[in-house]
Amino acid sequence: MRKKIVAGNWKMNLNAEEASNLVNGVCTALENIKLDESIHIVFGPPAPYLPLVKSMIPSILTETALVAAQNCHSEPKGAYTGEVAASMLSDIACDYVILGHSERRKYFKEDNELLNKKVQQALANDLEVIFCCGESLEQRNAGVLFDVVKDQLTAIFDLSEEDFKKVVIAYEPVWAIGTGVTASPEQAQEMHAYIRKLIAEQYSEAIAENTTILYGGSVKPANAVELFANADVDGGLVGGASLKDADFVDIIKAIV
Ligand code: PEP
Repeated sequence: MRKKIVAGNWKMNLNAEEASNLVNGVCTALENIKLDESIHIVFGPPAPYLPLVKSMIPSILTETALVAAQNCHSEPKGAYTGEVAASMLSDIACDYVILGHSERRKYFKEDNELLNKKVQQALANDLEVIFCCGESLEQRNAGVLFDVVKDQLTAIFDLSEEDFKKVVIAYEPVWAIGTGVTASPEQAQEMHAYIRKLIAEQYSEAIAENTTILYGGSVKPANAVELFANADVDGGLVGGASLKDADFVDIIKAIV
């Protein structure tokens, strides 16, 4: 059975005190929600707060509540001032790394070739990858949304089967990120089913069935239930609504 995941991407937000309050609030609520082993709740703080967040997760939740970095470098080490290597994330017991987010593609010009190297680094260092893909509004309106997503997935389609099993896909239409506009459940399901079909063609039906595909883009408590009800939507990657414990918890409840 494939994993269900609700992951929060905090982006460059919160300070240490706010981070502590948020994690405390969510973990306290989680202790009262029945979560089976197939569910992961992931906090994605800015890199300096990863150890703090990890240390705040109570032992009863260590299998369920995990942490994600928002980036890693494409090289193992060296003269890359300001960068963080995948091995360093692994060293501080980070569980996941988010790669290919549209903000990194846009502001840091990350392309398929670079992302492929980052994914390889992450997997070589025992991190699981949340790999983001998604089309812009212009691309959707031009009818090339499926071609765009297919092209973005080529960055991970040369992975071995064993490595690919450690990748979670997050479909995040760019026009829905941080805009308050959410893909309809039908739009999300259509793309998720397409992604799963591509995985089946590239790897196998069994691998496609076991791959977790998250939806991201203005997920909130008001729309999470209907989004997560789709057969191919296995949870969400949540930006803005992951910064408030009550909202994040309500979204988590939608996956249970
Ligand atoms: C994101 O940044 O991954 C995201 C989905 O943001 P938001 O939920 O705010 O649209």
